[in-house]
Amino acid sequence: MAEGRIIKSLSGFYYVQDENNEIFQCRGRGNFRQRKITPLVGDFVVFEAENKTDGYVLEVMERENELVRPPIANIDQAFLVFSAKRPEFNVQLLDKFLVHIEANDIKPLICISKLDLIEGETEQEVLSYVEDYRSFGYEVVLTSVPLSEGIEEVQSHFAGKVTVFAGQSGVGKSSLLNAINPLLELDTKDISDYLGRGKHTTRHVELIPFGSGLVADTPGFSSLDFRGIEADDLWLYFPEIREKSHECKFRGCTHVSEPKCAVKAAVESGEIPAYRYEHYVSFFQEIKDQKRRY
Ligand code: GDP
Ligand code: ZN
Repeated sequence: MAEGRIIKSLSGFYYVQDENNEIFQCRGRGNFRQRKITPLVGDFVVFEAENKTDGYVLEVMERENELVRPPIANIDQAFLVFSAKRPEFNVQLLDKFLVHIEANDIKPLICISKLDLIEGETEQEVLSYVEDYRSFGYEVVLTSVPLSEGIEEVQSHFAGKVTVFAGQSGVGKSSLLNAINPLLELDTKDISDYLGRGKHTTRHVELIPFGSGLVADTPGFSSLDFRGIEADDLWLYFPEIREKSHECKFRGCTHVSEPKCAVKAAVESGEIPAYRYEHYVSFFQEIKDQKRRY
């Protein structure tokens, strides 16, 4: 028996990479199937090699976390790619993605792409957001594929980790991965098509080696409703609100309508940017409304 990690799943086969980077094409066999566990890409497994290329998955180890779309387990981090322009920089959507990733226990990294497309006031505006997010504790990488800027920095974050890319279609996710590894030749159009459409849903998921890291070849978090997230927990997913909440008068303060709320005071004094708080309140309301519907 040996241990390894599933790096690809296709037509009933699990491709398991062992510690020597050898890959075994495996079928499932073993009692994880009675427990209704479906092995996922990213899973650490116990397997039995039949020969040098084939084997059987016998056991699936407990997961750190898992995503439904794409179906991947044990993700270390998600790169949230937002373009400075084309499509327009969308800070509310960024906050929505951040909430999802924080709620899934995955480390977020922010990448602002297409920096070459902005200048003057627009550039100042985007850079001031960058400063804000860094002050909340997020790592932000600025990139431009045509200017070859920030590419190595993105790559440096891959080492030893499993990374998923997320972000709207067209923000430049595949262009970035292709710039890091030109041999990859990811079909940019295919990847964008995959988002939000039924056509490619049977496409396999694969973790592609980048140095000592693995990167998912399909984008994550395409559907962004707040199912599974409680309104009362939302403050946990805004680091600067989380930090301030210790000073609130009431335990369990939701920072929406309670008196003597330190978060609201920090928004008034400008310590917490108003747009962040507005997004917080609007997501809070959205979750409450959603609860009423289901
Ligand atoms: P994806 O859907 O997120 O994978 O986006 P793509 O990688 O397919 O890129 C969408 C479009 O944006 C393509 O036409 C790319 O050439 C273009 N693009 C990607 N990165 C950059 C960049 O850094 N600067 C500029 N100007 N265009 C870019
Ligand atoms: Zn409060």
